[in-house]
Amino acid sequence: MRADRFFFKYCVYLPATWIRGQNVAGHLARLRRYERIAPAERRKLQEARLSRLLQAARAGVPEYSRRLARLHADSLSIQDLATIPTLTKQEVRDRREDLQYRPRPRFIVAKTTGGSTGEPVTIHKTHTAMAWELAATWRGYAWAGVHIGDLQARFWGVPLSAAGRRTARLTDFVCHRRRFSAFDFDRNSFVQYDQQLREKPPDYFYGYVSMIAELARWYTDTGRRLDQPPGAVITTSEVLSPDDRKAIEAAFGCRVFNEYGCGELGTIAHECEHGRLHTSDENMIIEILDGERPCRPGEKGEIVVTELNNIAMPLVRYRTGDFGALSDEPCPCGRTLGVLSDVFGRAYDFIVAPDGRRFHAEFLVYMFEEAQRQNCGIAQFRVEQTAPDHLQLLVVPSASGFPEHEEMRLVARIRELLGANMRVTTSRVQRIQREASGKMRVIVGLQSASSRQAPAAPGSTAPRG
Ligand SMILES: [Zn+2]
Repeated sequence: MRADRFFFKYCVYLPATWIRGQNVAGHLARLRRYERIAPAERRKLQEARLSRLLQAARAGVPEYSRRLARLHADSLSIQDLATIPTLTKQEVRDRREDLQYRPRPRFIVAKTTGGSTGEPVTIHKTHTAMAWELAATWRGYAWAGVHIGDLQARFWGVPLSAAGRRTARLTDFVCHRRRFSAFDFDRNSFVQYDQQLREKPPDYFYGYVSMIAELARWYTDTGRRLDQPPGAVITTSEVLSPDDRKAIEAAFGCRVFNEYGCGELGTIAHECEHGRLHTSDENMIIEILDGERPCRPGEKGEIVVTELNNIAMPLVRYRTGDFGALSDEPCPCGRTLGVLSDVFGRAYDFIVAPDGRRFHAEFLVYMFEEAQRQNCGIAQFRVEQTAPDHLQLLVVPSASGFPEHEEMRLVARIRELLGANMRVTTSRVQRIQREASGKMRVIVGLQSASSRQAPAAPGSTAPRG
């Protein structure tokens, strides 16, 4: 094993997670054994975990004491799940306190996520649940030939606050990764990124589809090639279109492996060597629903997930707001895990500053999340670029109102980052309209905004992919 890999795996990452009570290596070994067991055996494992979770939830989580009051069986089967009402993001936000286990477990991780829908949610997770989530992620990466200790080039956001940046630097060190900002970049940044990628060639790339695809097209357009290309590119968070996949694979000469997850639940599915998205069935039960009706295999519907390991804040039948189908065809790779297909949900846009710098949608989402954490009075928001020098903000004020001084502060912050030439207008609205697909798109770039105004082209408002 290469010396730096050995060092980061055995001297940094595994001890750092172990200290937090996360037995990632042990869980990973178990998951690798489980990936090919007979489906009936896996179902038994899921039911045992489900039973344990629901019984603990009924005893210690006020919301579930009510929801599960009528379920009295000692051992609960997967069929019993269908009798439990689904849980929406809105309910998680409104009943956050009642969704937490009491007494509160001593060691928990708090994750604030879901900002891409304009309505962030904070989830509490036990370290055991975190360890299973991390192990499932590493198992998925292993299918792409990536292992703990490998050097990652991370095309991702950079936190806006100094404290956030410090934490990010520490996490990046522990996870052996170098961060390339996906928030604020132009073609000059790519020259710099290219230099850094040559100085210390990473083992794999990880990041937003849109950002890596943009970088790939730049490599192709400028006729550049990396002398030591990455072994794999793992894309996440956004829909991966066939065009983007082709562009990335052509530019970097390696396979793209897509990951599907959502902030509240962590990773849900990873792509195998045969291009199928396998679900982390040991950690969750996935249902596809059309309203409340279960979909048939191959039929598209909303992805609804029950997380099996997290007693700190159980999410039972959680509606992700993403859409997809479950396939019943076995995968040629021989893994018996479920296969998710036709996932579509998130489609992010870029906001382009008047000076040409491009900002990933998540950048603005981070900024609004920061404002929301400071209780500035925003319940929900949407940002739309309507002209090269104009942003339209739609704000649903929170119950306590969105005061004018908060509005001025927010606008000033946006103009500080995007440039003083960017005009920003704010409108207070009652509610924010969803896309035709039902998805909430909170950052709308110039291209999408203009295609929306164009005469109804088929699918012009539907998410990519
Ligand atoms: Zn497979």
